[in-house]
Amino acid sequence: MTVTKHLRNPPHLDELAAVIEKSLLSNFETASFRVVECPDLAQPPFSLAGSGLSGNPRIADIGGQQHLFPKPILSAKYSLLSLAGNMDMSPHAGFIFGAGAAPFQDIGQNGELAPNLSWRGNDTASSFKDPSLLALNNGTRVIKLQADHEPICERLSSTNCALMMNLFGSDGDTGPVLKINAKARTGEHNFTNCIRYGLQEIYGDARPISLGGVFILKAGKAKFHIMPDFPLEDQLPFRDRKQLEKEWLSYHIFQAPVVCLTVMHSADPEGLGLRMEHTHSFDADGNRKGGHYHYGIQDEDEDVEYEAYFNVASMVYRIDQPSV
Ligand code: ZN
Repeated sequence: MTVTKHLRNPPHLDELAAVIEKSLLSNFETASFRVVECPDLAQPPFSLAGSGLSGNPRIADIGGQQHLFPKPILSAKYSLLSLAGNMDMSPHAGFIFGAGAAPFQDIGQNGELAPNLSWRGNDTASSFKDPSLLALNNGTRVIKLQADHEPICERLSSTNCALMMNLFGSDGDTGPVLKINAKARTGEHNFTNCIRYGLQEIYGDARPISLGGVFILKAGKAKFHIMPDFPLEDQLPFRDRKQLEKEWLSYHIFQAPVVCLTVMHSADPEGLGLRMEHTHSFDADGNRKGGHYHYGIQDEDEDVEYEAYFNVASMVYRIDQPSV
């Protein structure tokens, strides 16, 4: 598996807060930004597998949409723990989360994955090659369509994934993070893209910023998609992207609260084919909501409210970049 590493040199969080503030205020009625000590993300409302976003923060982009379109490439199967090894993470302590495709090889169908996994390895022999020596805390959710086409969001014991994956990794330590609140969308961009475009405008290709974190849709509703199972062989390849997006994907509007795990990049100057933004969501309290985050619902966005905690990565890993 090919792995390339790309250094990032992000500005201080205080500087980023000012840039993001300007961008969000052009798109939301109210927005506030502060650098704070990360709250314990293992507690509600997030209830993640790790507590913080600090300690060697890094981001990986694995595989890609070319593994789905025009035809699913079913050899693109991955292990989150092996990927953590590819990301040079320590087997002694770590926390990864993000957005990607569910391990069809384990669950028997395609779906969305919201990976959320931490580990401790107390043994000096701890290694990602032998997960039996690691104490895992797996809060990963799979969001898929059931036989009646209704969505379901379930905890998944598997530590595998497939096709494409965007991960934020750190030692899971508590440390300074960017806290963002935004309320009542007035502009055309969704929460994550608004942040991304604001960074792109200021830093351009000269200083790419890669960040990740968690946010909660606290009020209002937003639009999500869920990938159905793979089409039958005689229905492949997909005719075009429009068919995939308009006819194949299953769209749902979910009411707050929804927890969202996100990874984004302001630029891709090295031409790594990065997924510039990828956010997957899950139902913290139940099993009905979740999937790939699109945007708030334009006409009803006066109600929408977000609270986010982000950190910036100092290294980007491109893993198994598709050749096409
Ligand atoms: Zn997605």
